[in-house]
Amino acid sequence: MNLPLNWIDDLTALLPPGRVVTAETDVDRLSKDFYWYSPVLERQLREKRGDAAAQPRTVAEVRDVLSFAARRGIPVTVRGAATGNYGQCIPLEGGILLDLAALDRVLEISADGIATCEPGARLGVIESTARKSGWELRCYPSTYQKASVGGFLAGGSGGIGSISHGVLRDNQTVRWIKLLTMEPEPREILLEGRDVFKALHAWGTNGVFVEVGLTLAPRTDWAQLAVAFPSFEACIDFTEQVAITGTWHKRLVSCFEWPIPGWFAPLQKWVPQGEALAFFEIAHSQLEELSAAAAVAGGRPVFSSPHQEPRRGAQLSDYTWNHTTLWSKKAEPSLTYLQCGFNPQSFRDQIARLKARFGDEILWHFEFLKSDGVVVPGCLPIVRFTTEERLQEMIDFCGTIGVSIANPHINHLEGSGRWRPDDAKLVAKHEFDPMGLMNPGKMIGFKPTAAPQPATA
Ligand SMILES: Cc1cc2nc3c(=O)[nH]c(=O)nc-3n(C[C@H](O)[C@H](O)[C@H](O)COP(=O)(O)OP(=O)(O)OC[C@H]3O[C@@H](n4cnc5c(N)ncnc54)[C@H](O)[C@@H]3O)c2cc1C
Repeated sequence: MNLPLNWIDDLTALLPPGRVVTAETDVDRLSKDFYWYSPVLERQLREKRGDAAAQPRTVAEVRDVLSFAARRGIPVTVRGAATGNYGQCIPLEGGILLDLAALDRVLEISADGIATCEPGARLGVIESTARKSGWELRCYPSTYQKASVGGFLAGGSGGIGSISHGVLRDNQTVRWIKLLTMEPEPREILLEGRDVFKALHAWGTNGVFVEVGLTLAPRTDWAQLAVAFPSFEACIDFTEQVAITGTWHKRLVSCFEWPIPGWFAPLQKWVPQGEALAFFEIAHSQLEELSAAAAVAGGRPVFSSPHQEPRRGAQLSDYTWNHTTLWSKKAEPSLTYLQCGFNPQSFRDQIARLKARFGDEILWHFEFLKSDGVVVPGCLPIVRFTTEERLQEMIDFCGTIGVSIANPHINHLEGSGRWRPDDAKLVAKHEFDPMGLMNPGKMIGFKPTAAPQPATA
């Protein structure tokens, strides 16, 4: 994209001092997320970066940046905490990296359990603030200590808590999104009800979220439990039973095939060699009962941590969801992963067929969750990467046996597996970003319908 001359100087003059970062190393650092989880994206995106980062402190400053960019035709890529792992916030066409980390307030926890937050508020802060008032997040990613709520809504899907409350798109967990459009005169739009799907998980291509409302759950005192099983089959049988049985009050049900637990370096003092592991977050009142049930199923409780408030130290959830991939990659950098949707009725058969075809090139990691009201075995298997062709072979084979893939090796929305069949995001983009300046290249089906309008003054 050809950008106007001297625009960075003009942007710097527009905002209060210290709000625009231009030093190359800083802009490089701010331009990158966890895209390197994928060897394919690592190759494609390593050279991509913004030209300058704007770090507004108020919504009025965000508005000024958007108006400036819309008038000059400068791309804007929003950054929350850059913990996304598909290169979602890596600018493909340079321009402004809009870093919202400073808009980080939790504005209100209402008496009926709604959290109102600025977009840069960290999920860990929202969780601890809510707990003080008797509430907690319905679901959050394993990156909750760092990740921003705006980034979670625009880039994430679910996580700890999803086994009971579903993923972000379910059950009106996202109550509202207030966003600014990318136009010479940015408009503030309030999305409620099903309208949130216009911008939810749109990777920052459909407006800048400036305030969000989340439905909370009543606070529970959670305990943690790890159980070792001599075989992966016994481990998955027990975790599935816990996942589908409604009487267990739970927040996390995870299952790992050996050698994955061997890569959780800080846990090696109690992780048994060669065994499969299950991790649970369960209501404290059910901890003993769950330990006993696991023993009956042939498991051996190897770690438990009764509830304490505030929660201190490492949590088992720090090894689950996509943190499993992180620990695995720390041990063996060439490892990568997939995101698979198995059929809850026939997933054992599907696993057997993948094992028969790919052996230990694919190692099994399941996170049970509820999606559209149904408990499903979410799967983030670790993959021993050899070539891009072999990775594609795995993805293609999954398709032939009915395993869906949310492909984490693709850097656009349509290919990443969470595109909505109603094209709600594409339709909304014409309304919120008609020039296609927001995170260009990430919604490939969009064709701009407007051109920049320079100020006449
Ligand atoms: C170790 C690890 C574990 C993870 N575990 C999970 C998990 O359990 N569940 C899960 O869903 N994800 C997970 N992720 C992905 C990621 O951490 C989450 O999606 C996280 O919530 C992203 O938040 P962020 O603030 O870092 O967003 P960023 O990475 O900064 O941004 C993500 C996307 O949102 C856009 N965006 C950010 N803020 C706004 C805004 N205010 N308005 C509009 N667009 C915006 C960005 O442009 C980008 O496209 C994991 C990633 C890693 C590396």
